[in-house]
Amino acid sequence: MNPLEAQLAYPLGDTVPAPGAVLALAPGLRWARMPLPFALDHVNLWLLDDNFDGRPGYTLIDTGAGTDATRAAWEIVLADGIKGAPLVRVIATHCHPDHVGLSGWLCDRFGAPFWITTGEFGFARMMAAALPGVDEPSAIPHFERHGLVDAAMLDALRSRRNYYPSLVPSVPDAYTRLQDGQSIAIGAHRWRVITGFGHSPEHASLYCPELNVLVAGDMVLPRISTNVSVFAVEPDGNPLQLYLDSLGKFADLPDDVLVLPSHGKPFRGLHTRIRQLREHHKERLDEVVQACTTPQSAMEIVPIMFKRTLDAHQLSFALGEAVAHLHKLCFDDILRKLQSNDGIIRFQRISGHL
Ligand SMILES: [Zn+2]
Repeated sequence: MNPLEAQLAYPLGDTVPAPGAVLALAPGLRWARMPLPFALDHVNLWLLDDNFDGRPGYTLIDTGAGTDATRAAWEIVLADGIKGAPLVRVIATHCHPDHVGLSGWLCDRFGAPFWITTGEFGFARMMAAALPGVDEPSAIPHFERHGLVDAAMLDALRSRRNYYPSLVPSVPDAYTRLQDGQSIAIGAHRWRVITGFGHSPEHASLYCPELNVLVAGDMVLPRISTNVSVFAVEPDGNPLQLYLDSLGKFADLPDDVLVLPSHGKPFRGLHTRIRQLREHHKERLDEVVQACTTPQSAMEIVPIMFKRTLDAHQLSFALGEAVAHLHKLCFDDILRKLQSNDGIIRFQRISGHL
């Protein structure tokens, strides 16, 4: 446990559900964990007792990625964990593969409706169809403009051509819209939708005042910081500002709210964690400003922000994150963007800023 994590409380200690098992967390609320084929090797899912449209069963929040390992774990959850009860509704916090990967498979199997925000539904459909702009090949010129010239790395990224569709074989054709501030009934309780930006197009977290539980999705994670990247499809975006502003939307929640994150373990200490995350980004921003005394590409900033060796998958996230920090500093009038003859975008401190 790192020193920052030690400032949080984990009420279940190190207990986590085994693949295929479910763990009761609160009345009518269960936790399942699905495997992921990455260094980040799991995603948490939540099963809530429900009686939806007159159908008793469970509302599921997030589905796991569309891999054979996750399907196998689901068969055990369905048969043993929830004893053959149906899923009566599938809610997704956002469009990333570990959250919507099996949405089509599960909604079809149970005739369950799919609830998600419009922004996330649109992006999930676009990426599942590998449309130009959001597909993997579109990322290559974006990375090149930001200074990635290593041929082996570019080849490794090119080879991920079918990345999203391979993990998200289908997304339902229709959806029910989740909207910010909406109150939705799930079983005996009401949950408030809190949308968040910067990590994904229109992420939905869910807060239940009666249970004092926040399903945080990827917006607040206990051990790692949420990825905040500039992507090829929105090359001039300021996602870090969107993300930091979105954290402010959790300010009125109780300090002892039980936070259910998509990765890691349920914890208490929401406001401590948000303070840590703000501090983390402030430190990274300060480092970037210092480095930009002379013109720097985002690729040159990566080793300053990430002091470890990165594989191609990690580098794509790190580079997007470096651009996000550089862009915020441009929007704040601390850096300026320079176009060069070599086609690489560089960033330099505006004189007068120390
Ligand atoms: Zn995500």
